[in-house]
Amino acid sequence: GRAWHLASRPVGWPKPEDFSLVETEVPAPGEGQVLVRNTYLSVDPYMRGRMSDAKSYVAPYEVGEAMQGGAVGEVVASGAEGLAVGDHVLHGLGWREYALVDAKSAVKVDPGVAPLSTYLGVLGMPGFTAYVGLLRVAAFKEGDAVFVSGAAGAVGSQVGQIAKLKGASRVIGSAGSDEKVALLVEEYGFDAAFNYKDGPVGRQLREAAPDGIDVYFDNVGGDHLEAAIGSLNRDGRIAVCGMISVYNNTEPAPGPRNLARLIQTRGRIEGFLVSDHNDLRSEFVREVGGWIASGELKYRETVVEGIENNLEAFLGVLRGDNIGKMIVKL
Ligand code: NDP
Repeated sequence: GRAWHLASRPVGWPKPEDFSLVETEVPAPGEGQVLVRNTYLSVDPYMRGRMSDAKSYVAPYEVGEAMQGGAVGEVVASGAEGLAVGDHVLHGLGWREYALVDAKSAVKVDPGVAPLSTYLGVLGMPGFTAYVGLLRVAAFKEGDAVFVSGAAGAVGSQVGQIAKLKGASRVIGSAGSDEKVALLVEEYGFDAAFNYKDGPVGRQLREAAPDGIDVYFDNVGGDHLEAAIGSLNRDGRIAVCGMISVYNNTEPAPGPRNLARLIQTRGRIEGFLVSDHNDLRSEFVREVGGWIASGELKYRETVVEGIENNLEAFLGVLRGDNIGKMIVKL
C-alpha cells in the first residue's frame, strides 16, 4: 500500500516537495493488532502544526516517516479479540492505504448507524469540538448572540447551527466566499453572514451584529479576533478553538490592539483542546446524533478521491477549498 511521508519540514505554506508518496509493505497483524484497509481519511488544519517540530500538544510528524491522522477503514486481517474481518474502525493512522492498528486504539463504528465518513466529521472530532467549545468553554446560554468564524467549515458550520438549536438570539458567521456566505444563511439558518474578503472584518461584524455579540467562537484569529473583541457585549466570552490565519506564518502575528475592551466588558478569552472534554462525549453523541437523524442539523462534506490526492486535499483545507468537512475517499 501507499503512504504519505513527510520529506522535510515546511517553512511557510507547505510545498509538494515537503512530502512524498511511498510504496510500503503490508504487514500481517500481530497479537492484539488489526490490519485495516482505510476507506476515508481526514485532513485537518492541526496537521500543519505537526509538520513543524515546535513543542505542542501532539508529537510532531517525523521527517522520513508516514504522517498520521484520523481514518476509518475495514478490518482485513485480525489478531485481536473483539475485532473481526469486515468490521469498520475509526483510528489514528491516516495518510495511508493500509494501517496496522493496535486494537486498543481502534474504535468500532457502525455504517448502519451513520455514513462512515461522518465519524471523521459531524459525528467525529470536529463535531465534538463545536459542541464542547460552544456549550462548555464559551458557556453558551439561551438568548446569546453568537459570532463564529470559519463558519462554512467542519467545526464552524456546526457551531452556528447548535447555537440556533439552543436558542441563540442571533447567529452571525464569516467565511471566505459568496457561495459559502449564501449557504450559511439559506441552508444552515444563520441570521447574518459576511465574506471576510469583502472589507474590514470589524466594520462587517458591526453591521451584521448591531447590538453586539455575547459569544465569539474563534477558528481564525487575527483581524477576526480583534473585530470580535470590538463587538463584545458585557460578560462576553471568546472560545479560542483555532487560528488558521496564522498557521503558515513564519513570524508571530500581531495581537489584537483592543484587549483593553475586556476590562469594560468583563470579557473572557479561553483557549481549549477538544481532547480534554471527553466526559461530554456520550451527551454529544446523543444530542447531535438526534439532530442529524431528525434533519435539524445539516452538514456538508467535500470529498476528494484517491490517496494520490491526500496532500492536495490537505492544502485545500488551508486554502478554503472545502465546504464542510474535507474528506479523502479511497
Ligand atoms: P475547516 O473545515 O473550517 O477548514 C478550514 C477553513 O479555514 C477553510 O475552509 C477556510 O475557509 C478557512 N481559512 C483558511 N485560511 C483562512 C484565513 N487566513 N482567514 C480566514 N479563514 C481561513 O476546518 P476545521 O473545521 O477542521 O477546523 C476549524 C478550526 O478549528 C481550525 O482553526 C482548527 O485548527 C480548529 N480546531 C481546533 C480544535 C481544538 O481542539 N482546539 C479541534 C479541531 C479543530 P474560508 O473559505 O472561509 O476561508
